[in-house]
Amino acid sequence: MAREYAQIVVGLPIDRIFHYSIPEGMREEIDVGKRVMVPFAGQRLTGYVVGLSSQAPIARVKEIGAVLDPFPIFDSEILQLTRWMADYYACAWGEVLRVASPPRMKRVGRKREEKSIEKPPLLIPTPEQAEALKLIGKGLEKNNSTTFLLHGVTGSGKTEIYLQSIARVLEKGKQAIVLLPEISLTPQILLRFGSRFWGRIAPWHSRLSRRERFQEWMRMREGEADIVVGARSAIFAPFKNLGLIVIDEEHETSYKQTESPKYHAREVALERARLSGAAVILGTATPSLESYFQARRGKYELTELTTRVDGKIMPEVEIVDMRKELTVRGNRSIFSLRLQHSMRECLERKEQVILFLNRRGFSTFVLCQKCGQALRCKYCDVSFTYHSKTERLHCHYCNYQEEKPQVCPKCQSGQVGYFGVGTQKVESELRRLLPEARIGRMDSDTTTRKRSYSQILGSFQRHGIDILVGTQMIAKGLDFPRVTLVGVISADTALNLADFRASERTFQLLTQVAGRAGRGDVHGQVIIQTYNPEHYSIQTARLHDYPNFYGQEIKFRRELGYPPFSHLINVTLQSRDGNRLRKVAGKLGRILEANNREAIDILGPAPAPLARIKGKWRWQIILKGSRTGEMRELLKESLSQLKEPASGRVRISLDVDPMGML
Ligand SMILES: [Zn+2]
Ligand SMILES: [Zn+2]
Repeated sequence: MAREYAQIVVGLPIDRIFHYSIPEGMREEIDVGKRVMVPFAGQRLTGYVVGLSSQAPIARVKEIGAVLDPFPIFDSEILQLTRWMADYYACAWGEVLRVASPPRMKRVGRKREEKSIEKPPLLIPTPEQAEALKLIGKGLEKNNSTTFLLHGVTGSGKTEIYLQSIARVLEKGKQAIVLLPEISLTPQILLRFGSRFWGRIAPWHSRLSRRERFQEWMRMREGEADIVVGARSAIFAPFKNLGLIVIDEEHETSYKQTESPKYHAREVALERARLSGAAVILGTATPSLESYFQARRGKYELTELTTRVDGKIMPEVEIVDMRKELTVRGNRSIFSLRLQHSMRECLERKEQVILFLNRRGFSTFVLCQKCGQALRCKYCDVSFTYHSKTERLHCHYCNYQEEKPQVCPKCQSGQVGYFGVGTQKVESELRRLLPEARIGRMDSDTTTRKRSYSQILGSFQRHGIDILVGTQMIAKGLDFPRVTLVGVISADTALNLADFRASERTFQLLTQVAGRAGRGDVHGQVIIQTYNPEHYSIQTARLHDYPNFYGQEIKFRRELGYPPFSHLINVTLQSRDGNRLRKVAGKLGRILEANNREAIDILGPAPAPLARIKGKWRWQIILKGSRTGEMRELLKESLSQLKEPASGRVRISLDVDPMGML
């Protein structure tokens, strides 16, 4: 092959391939898939070699400074995958390769694990598990990248299905990738995989040091480890003969990276499986609407686990109608009388309580405390956000605004107010109500330091805390056998997010939260407080009835043309200069409208739900259409026409298939 020039991309938001000349002495050493040091705009940067050629399109090219890797770190499969990602997520190839890279190390001692021949025996599957394994086994024989949606209630033994499917893949000399949400990558779960496949697991999470990361990456590359268990970026594992990708909790929003490249690990996994012929298992108790939709139309194979392996019954879920709390019962507390009573009973029996508060919503919404009606945009059917300064209601999708009404448009009561309770308020009211109880609080304020997170959980585990108050982080995967009561302070905060996925989030959260109760030998109880007791996401979560929830939610999505019936691209504009930002956003909106030849909906420009972060104002434009390719083309064309002078700079970023509206 011609080795005069190298085609190189860099880890900057510039989606272009640059040509560099290869010095004579470097021609043996250079190769596609290696990192190099290159001069770039007066700096020295890491570049990624994506091709070699005998010609360069321009006469004067710069020379490569050094070759950084002894062997290629990317094979053609990863190069194809990352190129696809750059196209799909409208970002630079180099940015994707940067996140897919192992750390650079000179020489590191190799980590050797003690190999043990004693393996715990495979568990005997329940009839439902056996059925699922049979179906997946058939798919694994085919080598044609079948996707399975494993829908199993909490505690139904999904992990055992993963383990036995992985065992089959390893028998055939292939490798497996297991993705877990970062928060579930606990030593316990790694131990569970490790004890079944001793010495063959490479863990991959944020607590690894650079050196450990490098060591694990080398073990995978050299075939010492053939299973990676890790967070998002484990999808780039350097396996040569991938047989299976498992994605646990596939509905989790943390699979979507929030900084560029804003990729969704599930979508990337499906593409990698397609390239390598691997099978995919998507496991969850609450499938994303997108995945269940694909299963219903036969694109994925659906397999279900409806019972818990230990024979325990699902916890009883009780809904408390908060509209009646003040008017009928004369109770002004944020705790209903029912919840107060159950907490006291629980403490008397020396059992533990989790109180859950959803604070995903950044902004306050407006709700009628008499009828539970939240005020919503008549065009987008998402909740309005209340701006106290202007006393106006804003829709963050289409920028429709109205005055805050004095009376409720549904029931004409005067009890229309904005809403929002913090964990601190819950904690202080709890101390007043139950002074003898030992209370712990866990939210982003108290758990910024890693230690504090494990300290609080450790103390709760040892029963040094009776009542744990927390945000969604306590809803996930934790197993506390002495917890017999879980209280949800307000299901409405999730239900009224300014996001079309609000109902889906509510169903997922309530199901997860309910799964925390009654993990031990005592039967669990769940109390959900809400102003919307009739809402389908609350009613179906109470009955643990996902298909019914799906049936209602998919109707709403179809009517308003939201995903999975469309794709969205969220264009966020940011600047310190609010006036300039508004002008630029308006101009971009007009250019988009003028260029729009396809049936693409352009919503906004509107202030983002989080209208100001760290002194920067934020606006957004949402594109909604059926084909992402056309939407990206429209954006590319329009952004190139939006020429703004550098003063009062406005930063524009794109999010393809956004998971949350921030
Ligand atoms: Zn009302
Ligand atoms: Zn709207």
